[in-house]
Amino acid sequence: MAQDEFSIIQHYFADVGKPSPNTVLTIGDDAAVVGIPEGFQQVVSMDTLISGVHFAADTSPADIAHKALAVNLSDLAAMAATPDWFLLSISLPRVDADWLQQFADGLRYTAERFALQLIGGDTCRGNLSISIQIAGLVPVARFVTRAGGNAGDLLLVSGLLGNAGLGLAYQQGRVELPDDLRRRCLQALNRPQPRLELVDFLRSFASAAIDVSDGLQGDLAHILHASHCGARIDRAALPVDPWLAQHNLYQYALGAGDDYEICCSVPQKYRSEVESWNRLHADCHLTQIGELTDAGFTLQVGNQQVDLATSGGFRHFD
Ligand code: ADP
Ligand code: MG
Repeated sequence: MAQDEFSIIQHYFADVGKPSPNTVLTIGDDAAVVGIPEGFQQVVSMDTLISGVHFAADTSPADIAHKALAVNLSDLAAMAATPDWFLLSISLPRVDADWLQQFADGLRYTAERFALQLIGGDTCRGNLSISIQIAGLVPVARFVTRAGGNAGDLLLVSGLLGNAGLGLAYQQGRVELPDDLRRRCLQALNRPQPRLELVDFLRSFASAAIDVSDGLQGDLAHILHASHCGARIDRAALPVDPWLAQHNLYQYALGAGDDYEICCSVPQKYRSEVESWNRLHADCHLTQIGELTDAGFTLQVGNQQVDLATSGGFRHFD
């Protein structure tokens, strides 16, 4: 970027997040140096948000920063990894001190909340775009993938589905929402909460997991493909806002993106562990939406079975 790149980095990004005990060298040299503690494996992921594609250009800088980190944290949660550090590559159309300060403050808030450290990155001039590479830790072989599900396993989803998609539809003028719900939907869209609280539960009980970033139907299909299974889910069991159910807008729960909830499969023998989890975690309820089967992918709607294996099948019921 410009000659002041170094001062931008020093001023805004030198001290973001909670120092990781594993970092040997952080921002300021040509590269960072990090160790991996004995008995752990490193889990890495990367996601990019582009202005006008992944967020509206007028989104607040703090919300952009939060979401850029949150979508990466959500990938770690789905793998049952604990966040450790991240790298930030940011492309900026201009140096706007106010914007950068709000962005850095937003980034710092979320990095501290989830206890990880910004250890390096890149800064350049161009259309607004933010890439974050994240790294987490998991005890050797305790990570959870999309591939371990078995027929008979319970299918669970955390939180609520569809609100972020409704928020986006509202923002784009495609739907009208009552005041209170509108606030919650915009919050879901702009401030997704990565489900790191599920990491220990997933390590102990989940056979497979994925984060719901592109809509339940498509993301669950990834588990089915990787696990060589089918699934039967029940529309009436989907965790949605009552307003969404009342207006029969289930397509937002099944097909819209940006929920960043966790969908996982859990062997039936752990049913009581799921119940104990739910007694202690009202804010991150795990709802059983169905179960894994040998083959096929169906949605129960009343007494009818809708085939979800053909993409968009559910739409015929709205
Ligand atoms: P180089 O030109 O060798 O790639 P840079 O000038 O891009 O080095 O970066 C200098 C230092 O600042 C490096 O440690 C790099 O990781 C860090 N850095 C650059 N941009 C960012 C950023 N947006 N956030 C955090 N660290 C950054
Ligand atoms: Mg550079």
